[in-house]
Amino acid sequence: MSNRTFTMIKPDATRKGNTGAILQMINAAGFRIVAMKMVHLSEAKAGEFYAVHAQRPFYGELVGFMSSGPITAAILEKDNAVEDFRKLIGSTNPADAAEGTIRKLFAASIGENAVHGSDSDENAKIEGDFFFSKLEQF
Ligand code: ATP
Ligand code: MG
Repeated sequence: MSNRTFTMIKPDATRKGNTGAILQMINAAGFRIVAMKMVHLSEAKAGEFYAVHAQRPFYGELVGFMSSGPITAAILEKDNAVEDFRKLIGSTNPADAAEGTIRKLFAASIGENAVHGSDSDENAKIEGDFFFSKLEQF
């Protein structure tokens, strides 16, 4: 069980002005923000972040979308952070996401799905370190 996970508020949610509402839900669910910044990823950087999906048919679309505007990246702390945060965000496809989840409330489609959440402790660490130096992680 880890106590940290990594999230991004994706470009669709940024454009719609949902950043504050999503951060509010994250805090209300008991997560502490221990690092945060707004970033506009280049295509190259988005491609590097999602390299694990390079062979998937949606990779080009994903990289184009994630570099289409600013995101908010953050590291979150809570007991059982990775699993609990995946519950808070809901299924990848908002049509399948449970009521009250961030994706149910704010995501438009499987591609433009408002938020990212790490899928394992190992990836949470890798992804947090991708965006934040040690000095930026509190
Ligand atoms: P994330 O990693 O963003 O938290 P996830 O773990 O729920 O999402 P993954 O399988 O890791 O889902 O897919 C990464 C991202 O790729 C998804 O969040 C979504 O934006 C995009 N994606 C996944 N499947 C599709 C698809 N079939 N068509 C378009 N985009 C997709
Ligand atoms: Mg994933």
